Amino acid sequence: MPDFSIGVDLGGTNLRIAAVSADGQLLEKVTLGTKVALGRDHVIAEMCEAIQRLSAQYRTEGLFLGAGIGIPGIIDMETGMLRKSANLPGWSDYPVRAEIERRLGARVFLENDANVAALGEKWLGAARDVPNMAIVTLGTGIGGGIVLNGKIWHGMNGMSGEFGHVPIEPDGHACGCGGHGCAEQYASATAVVRMAREAITGGLSQSLAAAAASDAEFSARSIYNLAIQGDEDGRRIFRRFGKALGMLLAGLVNVLNLDMFVIGGGVSSAWDAFAPTMFEELRERSLVYAATAPEDPLGKEEGASAQVLARTRRKTIITRALLGSDAGLYGAARLAAPGGA
Ligand SMILES: [Zn+2]
Repeated sequence: MPDFSIGVDLGGTNLRIAAVSADGQLLEKVTLGTKVALGRDHVIAEMCEAIQRLSAQYRTEGLFLGAGIGIPGIIDMETGMLRKSANLPGWSDYPVRAEIERRLGARVFLENDANVAALGEKWLGAARDVPNMAIVTLGTGIGGGIVLNGKIWHGMNGMSGEFGHVPIEPDGHACGCGGHGCAEQYASATAVVRMAREAITGGLSQSLAAAAASDAEFSARSIYNLAIQGDEDGRRIFRRFGKALGMLLAGLVNVLNLDMFVIGGGVSSAWDAFAPTMFEELRERSLVYAATAPEDPLGKEEGASAQVLARTRRKTIITRALLGSDAGLYGAARLAAPGGA
């Protein structure tokens, strides 16, 4: 049995923990029903207990290398404290890393959740064969992470990769960050629902109004389902989404010229509905993409062929994530493995 580390995905609603061997094999995965709402001390205690239980189980067979924890929010890499986390109130100005290290008696790495998702896709997912990549995670908002030569690019103090707040509309919708016209106001689950509600309020869509009236949740998924059934109003929203994402990617491709951009997060499952306008916009707006685009990005973007293209023909690959919600778990575990952080 090889050495192993523990990866933790501390989400806004629950907590998942995995033991992963240093060569990338999943040993065990547990989902704790921990209520983040019960507060910081409760969550830290349950997390540490579960990490200790798992590590004790595999310690007889290999060395426990430490734990990596993916957290939604901005982390001060030097102090191991959270600067700001909308989903984890009460966690800022508290020495999170030091406290968990003290409890575990092991090395602990804290990292932004999108950064660990990037590292996971780089290690074992869509980007495993390319040296340089970025991930764009489409969820409630947009997250981002950049991996250069196998390492997360943190910027000066861990705040890089805030792709969701790249402005794409000069007089656009107000954003929670204090700005307006940010990418996540047009290409996220929240944006999809808002655009649908705007169409309903404006009396512009009977089909969306009917769906909203009969569906208590009326989520981005409901609107996607309408779109793939051919509803023109649903399709229009995802075309707008794809256009916004294409604009964001055009900027990223122009600036970074990376081998691969991986599109992850829950809303990436709506790929079919937004990818055509995303690629159209990207090709129109990015000279770097136009010069390096694969001939048939929609046909070849997935799976092994994408990696072969990237490696052999120096194309800019825009592709879907492969690891789903496990990317963050693997990436977090990778932080504590040799050469990971
Ligand atoms: Zn913003």
